[in-house]
Amino acid sequence: MPRPLNSKSTKIVATLGPASRDPEIIRQMLRAGMDVARINFSHGDHETHGKAIEAVRKIAAEEGINVAILCDIQGPKIRIGTVANEPLMIKTGDTITFTLDDVPGEDGLISLPHPEFMQDLSAGSTLLLDDGNLQMTVTETSARQVRCEVVIGGPLTSRKGVSAPDATLTLSAITEKDRADIEFALSQDTDYIAMSFVRKADDIRQLKWLMNFFNGDAAIIAKIEMREALENIEEIIALCDGIMVARGDLGVETPAERVPLEQKRIIQLCNAAAKPVITATQMLESMKSNPRPTRAEASDVYNAILDGTDAVMLSAESAAGKFPVRAVEVMANIAITAEKEIGNQRNDRYVFDVAETTTVNHETVSNAIGEATFHISEALHPTAIITTTLSGYTARRVARERPTTPILCMTPVERTYRRMALVWGVHAFHVASFNTVDEMIIVTVRAAHDAEHVHRGDLLVIIAGVPFGIAGQTNFLKVHRVGEQGEI
Ligand code: PEP
Repeated sequence: MPRPLNSKSTKIVATLGPASRDPEIIRQMLRAGMDVARINFSHGDHETHGKAIEAVRKIAAEEGINVAILCDIQGPKIRIGTVANEPLMIKTGDTITFTLDDVPGEDGLISLPHPEFMQDLSAGSTLLLDDGNLQMTVTETSARQVRCEVVIGGPLTSRKGVSAPDATLTLSAITEKDRADIEFALSQDTDYIAMSFVRKADDIRQLKWLMNFFNGDAAIIAKIEMREALENIEEIIALCDGIMVARGDLGVETPAERVPLEQKRIIQLCNAAAKPVITATQMLESMKSNPRPTRAEASDVYNAILDGTDAVMLSAESAAGKFPVRAVEVMANIAITAEKEIGNQRNDRYVFDVAETTTVNHETVSNAIGEATFHISEALHPTAIITTTLSGYTARRVARERPTTPILCMTPVERTYRRMALVWGVHAFHVASFNTVDEMIIVTVRAAHDAEHVHRGDLLVIIAGVPFGIAGQTNFLKVHRVGEQGEI
């Protein structure tokens, strides 16, 4: 059975990994509230990922739950080579040389096999290693080497990540490995592709070009984890289908104390654009080994929801932790608690002032209908808002208002149906297509009735774009009593 209308509205993205590949664990995670399964291409191989995707889809179908697959592509992650005697102790004040050559990793000479990255460094650049645990300043660069002075030392092991937060990087946004992973993800008909280390809108254009080349059609989630992406955030949001606030790398690329501020700013911009936003990383970190979250973690999830996030994400907690199912349950419980507060804190952020609009076009009409839907539903308390949509825009536009009434998204497009699994408060249905308003009411109300979400005599608000078949023009609103047209 689909989830009941009074279940949580916030969506949960859970990363699959060794701790959560067992079909029974997947089933329990779905029952506990997983809406999107994240496949992390930084680990594992195609065969394992393919099996995980197949298992999630099969079990979700058995459970009657709409689930989306999100393939998270590694991107141009910069890593050092190997280190001979692990851990290599790097002392503050030491001089370290990074080289393009394959060296054993000893005597102050470490391999860094990334020519494009090295070429973007100059004297004075800061280098952060191992998630910022070690810090160095570049003192000298040459064709194949950079020399650094260690500002903060510490133990270093092989293949640790390196970042240069103040450098403007020219390296290509999509690596050879990414290309192969994107082709594979598209062959699996993934719903979302998450692109790592996005810096500018052109990176998204490159991915779109590549998807086109592979004849694929996945929605794009831009992971915001670079300083440059923060500078270009508006054009990135305009071009992608959703955003992930990737706080792990963001907290290395920018000072960690700025992460909460950036998180709130990005969420606000995504809400304004009616695009889904995921808050990610370390949300319930301690649950990798403990059955209960820390109070700080519970606050973090709660506050992200009040900020307006569509989805909260589990990474290692569900991929490699001891309590993957419990972590989903804990997130769902926090979400239900936080959502009760959303209505109280709402401050009409998006009031759409028709009077100030100079040009009335499809967008302004859709916005006005979205706004009206919210106000009518808060006044009449219908059982549900029914949105009919091709692209999903109408449902996203209503969802951004965070109505207290459940949103049922009825779409004849299977791809849209699955993508809706990520959007706050939306219960999606894949329905037959319709040509007239009467047909639309029959199809959509029957679907809601068959799922036992609505009953004869219930009040509904139905919105749509007429004529049907053209995306992005919501212009129809009806307050409907279930059964009044003889549709059930
Ligand atoms: C992050 O950095 O927060 C993130 C989600 O990306 P990844 O897990 O791929 O490092």
